[in-house]
Amino acid sequence: MTTGLEGLAALVTGGASGIGLATARLLSEQGANVAVIDLDPRGAPAPLRGFTADVTDDHSLRAAVQAAAEALGGLDILVNNAGIGAAGTVEDNPDEQWHRVLDVNVLGVVRTTRAALPYLRASRAASVVNTCSIAATAGLPQRALYSASKGAVLALTLAMAADHIREGIRVNCVNPGTVDTPWVGRLLDAAADPAAERAALGARQPTGRLVTAEEVAAAIAYLASPAAGSTTGTALAVDGGMAGLRLRPEPQP
Ligand code: NAD
Repeated sequence: MTTGLEGLAALVTGGASGIGLATARLLSEQGANVAVIDLDPRGAPAPLRGFTADVTDDHSLRAAVQAAAEALGGLDILVNNAGIGAAGTVEDNPDEQWHRVLDVNVLGVVRTTRAALPYLRASRAASVVNTCSIAATAGLPQRALYSASKGAVLALTLAMAADHIREGIRVNCVNPGTVDTPWVGRLLDAAADPAAERAALGARQPTGRLVTAEEVAAAIAYLASPAAGSTTGTALAVDGGMAGLRLRPEPQP
């Protein structure tokens, strides 16, 4: 079965690690020509093409998007995935950190998309997929700033989908639960009891385990592909049932 991704040109931000790398690999395996933009793109091996840029720096980002589009012969798919985390309640993060996280997680999507739009408009299979989060739809403790940034990504996804549908560009997002990536590895390493913290994060998801980066990549690749041609303005949860299910406690033996 063909995926419809064969020969399409795809750009993934934050594509050198975790969800972005798994997505870039899967799109490539399914026949797309793939470029990644990252602070350090060395984690993305050939045939992925790496370009260095910070999504908070409009000048270098525009140059990287242009270089990627020239290398690929255009752009059909943009995956806005670069993002950073923040822990704390509304009392805990200084203003500078609020500006920094919103700059990466929200304005990063804005800058990359507006640089890519001229190329997407020229595509006959144009699609944008944003990596959002369960933090946009469920209240999680100690994630005030991060949740605000992903709530903005969810709203931005819907607004962008409305603005660009008549140009033939679909816009969707994925809402992962806790995913086993280097990011979460760093969080676990910093915990007092990493094994207990991993068990607690896994138990928070009805499947009882962390999501894999490959499972999120599969959802992104679907939304990005022509197979999802009638799907725009949606958020696809990839969260082990965390957003939608209410289980009763397991019966005690
Ligand atoms: P990761 O840290 O493994 O990878 C993130 C990549 O983004 C890194 O390669 C990093 O260099 C790059 N990056 C960070 N800031 C950048 C910048 N300013 N410019 C360019 N590149 C930058 O993280 P991950 O877990 O794969 O997360 C990827 C996305 O998934 C993020 O948007 C994150 O918010 C989202 N997400 C992650 C989880 C999770 O549990 N891991 C859950 C929900 C959503």
